[in-house]
Amino acid sequence: MEPLLKQVTCECGWTAKGTEDELVPQIQKHGREVHGIEVTREQAVAQLVPA
Ligand SMILES: [Zn+2]
Repeated sequence: MEPLLKQVTCECGWTAKGTEDELVPQIQKHGREVHGIEVTREQAVAQLVPA
């Protein structure tokens, strides 16, 4: 089965594309390093749209 590709676009303009399992840690890292916020898995998943 093909992994579903998702995409995320942050309000700051940062974007990333990949599977949910790839993107969640990237979104959490981005939130921490760029915005100084902790992002839960649920919050990260909620930002994903089909790529
Ligand atoms: Zn951002």
